[in-house]
Amino acid sequence: MTELLPNYFGGQWSHGTGTGSTLVDPVLGTPLVRVDATGLDLAAGFAFARDTGGAALRALNYRERAALLGAAVKVLQANRDAYYEIATANSGTVKNDSAVDIDGGIFTLGTYAKLGESLGERHHLVDADMVRLGKDPLFQSQHVLVPTRGVALLINAFNFPSWGLWEKAAPALLSGVPVIVKPGTATAWLTQRMVQDVVNAGIFPPGALSIVCGSSAGLLDALQPLDVMSFTGSAETAHQVRLHAAVSQRSVRVNIEADSLNSAYLLPGEDASSAAFGLLVKEVAREMTVKSGQKCTAIRRVFVPEALYDAAAQAIGARLASTTVGNPRNESVRMGALVNRAQMTSVRQGLQQLQTQADTLYDGANTPLVDADPAIACCVGPTLLGARNADAADVVHAMEVFGPVATLLPYRSGTHALELIRRGQGSLVASIYGSDPQALADAALALADSHGRVHSISPDVAASQTGHGNVMPQSLHGGPGRAGGGEELGGLRALGFYHRRSAVQASTSVLSLLRTSDAAPTV
Ligand code: NAP
Repeated sequence: MTELLPNYFGGQWSHGTGTGSTLVDPVLGTPLVRVDATGLDLAAGFAFARDTGGAALRALNYRERAALLGAAVKVLQANRDAYYEIATANSGTVKNDSAVDIDGGIFTLGTYAKLGESLGERHHLVDADMVRLGKDPLFQSQHVLVPTRGVALLINAFNFPSWGLWEKAAPALLSGVPVIVKPGTATAWLTQRMVQDVVNAGIFPPGALSIVCGSSAGLLDALQPLDVMSFTGSAETAHQVRLHAAVSQRSVRVNIEADSLNSAYLLPGEDASSAAFGLLVKEVAREMTVKSGQKCTAIRRVFVPEALYDAAAQAIGARLASTTVGNPRNESVRMGALVNRAQMTSVRQGLQQLQTQADTLYDGANTPLVDADPAIACCVGPTLLGARNADAADVVHAMEVFGPVATLLPYRSGTHALELIRRGQGSLVASIYGSDPQALADAALALADSHGRVHSISPDVAASQTGHGNVMPQSLHGGPGRAGGGEELGGLRALGFYHRRSAVQASTSVLSLLRTSDAAPTV
């Protein structure tokens, strides 16, 4: 039997009492470790985090909490090699793809450590200025933001075991709110190891950082009205979360990051020899293959002027053809595996559904695998589809295939392109490629209401742009509608989710004290 990883919950390490779920190497098929949460006293563990962890964090000011984040960064950096080994074994990712998750997570944590420093010695935040409530200038209203007296339950998807942890935990802990993280089971090992390293370093007060690995059963039942929950995963699971009594009856504040049909859009007026065309082609091929397309932000739909459909198909296909697929331990491999057989089956089935309405422009099905047994390894080659009739391709605008798959779609005019992009019903990100600044600005504003982020690429930023799919902590992550309606990151904006806003109505002298006070909460 493989090792059973312990949970850290209620201020102590404890093993589940069941046999648990076995995590598997998706390339070699070998069992790695097990996780299990059976038998944990959930009510007691949540109460410990809420009461002991919460009180200790709230007693610290923003700068002190930022210093704790900075100390956690140092611990994580010291253990990076172990994280890369776990990622290779459990996620089947090549080094560059593991970096997106591991170093991306540590960078995000470090960014919040710096941002928190700027908030100084305060224990609460003020929201804008005092406003008069009537003619009397003495009685006014001041909005304040104070950390919620609850726990933050963080439920994550399998594809970002490191970044998914820290992009949520950093703003929560900086806000003064204890976290309980439940990673996606398939890749829970990396999250567990990172939490273990930070806990063992004794950085955060007891109860501030807890981890439960394995089934989510009972976690939402333990939530109380002043707790918050941040969920990342599929639209289907998000639907169940919304229906749970914690949300529907106890009004637990919930942030949902779900799946998304992100777009890449080459503006009208560009031709196949333009720099913008080349930038789109490069980015699409990259987005399809990074982490084998298992990124919520990956480009799924590619919009080009109809005259450029064939040229784009040919150019993207040529790039995909140079992608070596297989065992991430082999240095020549550029793309590793999907996370497990269930995901491989799901990707193959999704591809078949898309192919009912789309042609296969570049077929990854027969890609030879390097150093990997096709009967065991969960590796699939990248596949570019295309639908000449973009209006009729309903499935392409509705179904996310969580793998190295994208669909090329031709448009007749700029208006037509925007209509087609909006059929994604709200997405995390759209990228726009062009050389006319006015046209880029107009398109960005036109897409801003249906996208949490618009990534605008012109030749002048070719070398400095941060990538369509890379989530930078300074910018908002989330999207309206189908993408879940959530908002994460965006610099200090992220702290809003973990604070309660209250309007204090009082005399100007009371409000002036409240605006400048550095005092810790008295109880
Ligand atoms: P998933 O199956 O929905 O699972 C997400 C998380 O929810 C896992 O930790 C899962 O635990 C847990 N879970 C399962 N049933 C639950 C329930 N009834 N109540 C509460 N939690 C429950 O998603 P996934 O397959 O891990 O991830 C892939 C999906 O996530 C894709 O659709 C992708 O687009 C989306 N995603 C979105 C973002 C974003 O930021 N918008 C980022 C990454 C991924 P188990 O693992 O134990 O089942």
